[in-house]
Amino acid sequence: MSFSDLGLNPKLLQAVEDVGYTTPTPIQEQAIPYVLMGRDVMGCAQTGTGKTASFTLPMIEMLSSGRARARMPRSLILTPTRELAHQISENFESYGKYSKLSKALLIGGSSFAEQIKLLERGVDVLIATPGRLLDLFERGKIMLVDTKLLVIDEADRMLDMGFIPDVEKIVSLLPPLRQTLFFSATMAPEIRKLSDKFLSNPKEISVTKQASTAETVEQTIIKIDGGPKEKREALRQVMTGEGEIQSAILFCNRKKDVDILNKSLNVHGFSAAALHGDMAQSSRMETLSDFKEGKVKLLVCSDVAARGLDIPAVSHVFNFDVPVNPEDYVHRIGRTGRAGREGKAFTIATIEDYKGLRNVLTTINSGIPVVSLEGFETWTDEEAASLKGRRRRRPAKATAKSSDAKEAKPSRRRKKSDDVAEDDSTDTAASSDAGNGADEKRSAKKPTRTARRKTKPTAVIGEREPSSEPSNPTSSFGDHTPAFILREAKVA
Ligand code: AMP
Repeated sequence: MSFSDLGLNPKLLQAVEDVGYTTPTPIQEQAIPYVLMGRDVMGCAQTGTGKTASFTLPMIEMLSSGRARARMPRSLILTPTRELAHQISENFESYGKYSKLSKALLIGGSSFAEQIKLLERGVDVLIATPGRLLDLFERGKIMLVDTKLLVIDEADRMLDMGFIPDVEKIVSLLPPLRQTLFFSATMAPEIRKLSDKFLSNPKEISVTKQASTAETVEQTIIKIDGGPKEKREALRQVMTGEGEIQSAILFCNRKKDVDILNKSLNVHGFSAAALHGDMAQSSRMETLSDFKEGKVKLLVCSDVAARGLDIPAVSHVFNFDVPVNPEDYVHRIGRTGRAGREGKAFTIATIEDYKGLRNVLTTINSGIPVVSLEGFETWTDEEAASLKGRRRRRPAKATAKSSDAKEAKPSRRRKKSDDVAEDDSTDTAASSDAGNGADEKRSAKKPTRTARRKTKPTAVIGEREPSSEPSNPTSSFGDHTPAFILREAKVA
């Protein structure tokens, strides 16, 4: 099938050709004709499948006739993040370059005055994050009674980010007779409930199985036992083993850890930059464009900031932390292997991540090869299961930092950076953040600096259920006596 079979006008076909697309992706092939018919659509599609064009192309076609009135947008696209809003806006610019459509972006972190000015001129397409839109509505700057086309993009993410009450309020301000297009990477029961509420007799389109991971991504789990410091060492080792990485996205669960990891990578000579929600919008955009232009090779992000990033050349994704929400795993690794390209995704998992990892495997419903790293301690499912009731199985305090350093045969990059004291300070910060004893130093087997990643997977986890019971069940706190029990009691 070609784009000309989809019923798009010649101007749009020319714009699509200019961008270099030759054939529609499955979501475009299936969604575009229904959107053009005026039907509601519920699309289950991950980012990277071409879903943005599946609604922007027919929208441009449909909005090409008619005029917008002041403060009354004709269509509305709701997105969870500013970055995604920007990307959708860029899509409108490329595909709509031969069509005269006005658009406005209503997102936090940008000037109200500019946005209000655009609204007053009248907009055909309004791309907004829910908070800013409601803010402007409450200030009386916008009316949604003429908005007859609504797109809710990345609904699952809206749910995760707690935006659903805002979305519900916005939808209640729209005319009931409208066309609604609803996209989500996953179809969890809550998402289905929402789509039932917002859509009327929708055409359901699913281009991947539920919460499936991109097939073009080679996934690996690196099991190591240790705290943040060991994780950073393991990460560096894996990245070095991958050779010259052109562009990679690294995910941390917490904003604080994004900063720590970014700082540590820079100290170790990597070209990295951080992206998270606490940064000013201008510096987020600057970082993103530096990354897109290849000025920085590694982007260290939180989930929220990375949502909706469309950077086709990302070759690797590194999960520095196993995501708390298993569906984020699907989104994270979907940053690579986009639009038919190959990508690699590595996930560093410590014994504390056992449960999170199992949740990920259940969600993606398939196994992932596991490798261990030479020079790093690893752990087994049985050990993880028997960890119940104890926080960590930590060996006694580290003894041999200096002797290890002597034994080690560091690579140039490692040597330079291992000598940097700043990294130790970041370790302390990271450890205190981790809380659960991760600041204890490791003793038994510090990673040797000549350590390399084993190339062959040691196992594929997720293919068999581990026994849910520990092989060596312990009761109470097991062989560990918590510090509070040993503390002298204060008697009044
Ligand atoms: P999306 O899923 O909308 O984030 O799109 C993922 C990537 O696929 C973007 O870089 C698009 O530019 C690209 N893309 C979208 N449609 C096509 C197509 N028909 N052929 C090739 N690439 C496409």
